[in-house]
Amino acid sequence: MNLIDLHMHSTFSDGTDGPEELARTVKKAGLSAMALTDHDTTSGNEACMLAAKANDINFIPGCEISTKSEYGSHHILGLWTPENNRELELLLAKTKQARTERNKLMLEKLRNLGIDISEKDFPNVEIDHLGRPHIANYLLQKGIVANRLEAFDKYLGKNGLAFAPKHSPTPEEAISLLAKSGATPIWAHPCLDKFDPAECEMLVRRFAKAGLAGIEAYHSKHSPEATEMLLKLAHKYDLAISGGSDYHGKNKPEIFPGIGENNLSLPESILQNLISRRKSQGLPC
Ligand code: AMP
Ligand code: FE
Ligand code: FE
Ligand code: ZN
Repeated sequence: MNLIDLHMHSTFSDGTDGPEELARTVKKAGLSAMALTDHDTTSGNEACMLAAKANDINFIPGCEISTKSEYGSHHILGLWTPENNRELELLLAKTKQARTERNKLMLEKLRNLGIDISEKDFPNVEIDHLGRPHIANYLLQKGIVANRLEAFDKYLGKNGLAFAPKHSPTPEEAISLLAKSGATPIWAHPCLDKFDPAECEMLVRRFAKAGLAGIEAYHSKHSPEATEMLLKLAHKYDLAISGGSDYHGKNKPEIFPGIGENNLSLPESILQNLISRRKSQGLPC
């Protein structure tokens, strides 16, 4: 059976594999298809696509947009993101700017806490690509925290001492813009850090009205109960099912391509189903 991975990060966001390297990693893992879904950018897609092609891997260009509602933060994956879509590029440029400002503020807050850290400590990462997992890794390497969990609990998480909020679009804005651009909007890891079936269903209904096409039921951090609940929701609201590891290379070393934390096995039929839904809408695949 061919296995796939529809949620992966490269150095264009907070992954540690460059886009070409990522395609080779996927090849080594024996997968037949992959999607690149960097946070708030599509910039790695072209290089990754070329490398994927050279390695005989079916490549789906994508991105993962960070959004916020009154219920918290929600990540929306766009699969089959188009090239040169003005509105999508504008939204991503705005979020990039917000990330840059947020990163500068968080590094300043860390310095004010007596930690010697600056942009220069991330020579291989542009400030607009820097993510909190990079900073967590740095704090771990310097022995300032004992593990990544402590980095988020103490400094980088929502209640952390160095946290700074980042302006984000609403989930509905991201979903409708992705849908309008011809991409397939998927709600990424709905149960990443909470399991609330009632809230989840209410949000699925809301997101579906904005044009949501699918739910990422299979994800490294989903419990079997969460996955089952999400599969039922997808069925109930006639949404597609998606799945991915959320591979970040060395920034999340417990996650492996395709198998996540050893709990995933994503068959190619997931991708085939997404493709037939797109075809029935006349969208390119
Ligand atoms: P950013 O986009 O820079 O705000 O960072 C988001 C990334 O940080 C995502 O990949 C999350 O998985 C990760 N993240 C957020 N909160 C936590 C946490 N409490 N523990 C571990 N990773 C987290
Ligand atoms: Fe990330
Ligand atoms: Fe995410
Ligand atoms: Zn992700």
